[in-house]
Amino acid sequence: MARFTRVFGVRTLRVGFVRGLRFRLAVSYVAFFAILLAAIGFFFWRHLKEEALVELEATAEADWGATVGYLRFIHEEPRWIYDPTDSDEAYTVERLRHVYLLADENGNLLEYSTIYESIGINSPETRDLIKRVLKTKRGTHDYSIQKDRDGVPYVIDAGWTQDEDKHKYFLAIGRSLAVPYRTVNDFTRTYLLLAPVMLVLASLFGWLLAGIAIQPVNSVAHAAQNVTGSNITVQIPLRGAGDELDHLIDSFNQMTERLHQSFEQIRRFSTDVSHELRTPITAIRGQLEVALFTAETPEQYRESIINAMEDIEKLSSIVRALLLLSQAESGQLALQKAPLDLAEVVTDLVDQFQIPAEEKDVHLTSSIEPCAPVEADRTQIERLLSNLLSNAVKYTPKGGSVRVVVGPAREPGWTKISVEDTGVGIPAENLPHIFDRFYRVRNAQTNTIQGLGLGLSFVAWIVEAHGGRIDVASNSGIGTRFTVLLPSGPETADPSPAESATLASNESRYS
Ligand code: ADP
Repeated sequence: MARFTRVFGVRTLRVGFVRGLRFRLAVSYVAFFAILLAAIGFFFWRHLKEEALVELEATAEADWGATVGYLRFIHEEPRWIYDPTDSDEAYTVERLRHVYLLADENGNLLEYSTIYESIGINSPETRDLIKRVLKTKRGTHDYSIQKDRDGVPYVIDAGWTQDEDKHKYFLAIGRSLAVPYRTVNDFTRTYLLLAPVMLVLASLFGWLLAGIAIQPVNSVAHAAQNVTGSNITVQIPLRGAGDELDHLIDSFNQMTERLHQSFEQIRRFSTDVSHELRTPITAIRGQLEVALFTAETPEQYRESIINAMEDIEKLSSIVRALLLLSQAESGQLALQKAPLDLAEVVTDLVDQFQIPAEEKDVHLTSSIEPCAPVEADRTQIERLLSNLLSNAVKYTPKGGSVRVVVGPAREPGWTKISVEDTGVGIPAENLPHIFDRFYRVRNAQTNTIQGLGLGLSFVAWIVEAHGGRIDVASNSGIGTRFTVLLPSGPETADPSPAESATLASNESRYS
């Protein structure tokens, strides 16, 4: 069974915790911090290790030099020459012999310490080292790291020395890496223990910071939720930080302002439409009531029906105009553009309007200059002209005149049509609105409103759809001039405002 639920009030989108901006910001922050922490830890760990090694190599080199100083060879027999009663010297020699290996030039082992034995005196590595070192140049040292049986690492400094008979001897001196490595390991352990604590603290801090950063977004969302059709003018106060959020709030405020204007227009439009439709409907109802209750003869019936028909005609013309306008504004009315000779269209239209003009005793003239054809929809251009002409004739009193001028505009690539009358004019305060839908000017003398107020809205749309411009200049009691500029060439540039010569002090423009 299909279900439909109508929800009243504000619908709130629940932000998923993990998908929330705050969570994501905090996670990014913590992830970045973790990477940084790991990188710093790794850098220091390596640096400490390398430093320890370099230091130990330097010490081993010094030890090697000292050993060579104490070591003598008598008949190719190694002898440590020092004063055993000197405790310092005895201690030094003892220390030097701690990790120590001596071999002759044939690789036969002469002396070695217990630790070196544990490292491996006959191991392939040691054999290889002896062979390799004995082949090097004098003064060359070979540094390597070797481990004893218990896995304790040693830095081994190996080189060769000579006795007075130029016999070569391989000598290797070592230093334990256990203490410096312990320092590195202690650092690593402490760091690894502290890192999770730092990460937890960073997470809390990140969560807090993300909350502060996101707070204005939430207040914007909250304010947006409170906006309804009736309070659309609600403006969210700017924070004055001049940041992206202020930019967002400003854009949001501008959007609500634009929405407010559209809402107003729609509201006015629907009020106007209902108002416009009510009058003929009431009249039709009146006619039908007359027919139903008071008419007796066929003539009376006929008269009521005729009157009702006239109002129905008015009703359908309003509906037609509205439909056309809404089709035009929603882009459903496609223009059939083709090269059009404006001089010819204007001549035809002026001819058509001669009869209504004569009926009103208005002198209708035209001044037509040959001009380049414009790319335009004939039907729409005729509609535009007939709207302007009918207005000019309608709002020009007896004895007045209407003049239509067509010709090339001053700017190359533009064609100008102007419809000028000596009619009642449009008051300055009404001028900016006359292209709005249903906007009509109240007649000051008769205090009445004529027409539908849709003609000029349509004219404005036609001009816009052709990429043109319309200007109006008017003075109450003196006359009005509408000037339409239409592009007639491919290289058409924007026409200058001076093109529409000012007839009066009041002007309005639509383009
Ligand atoms: P309508 O079809 O009712 O005339 P328009 O949209 O064509 O409506 O015109 C809007 C208003 O502009 C009219 O109510 C009228 O007061 C004013 N107007 C238009 N053209 C002229 C004109 N030539 N002279 C004086 N007023 C005019």
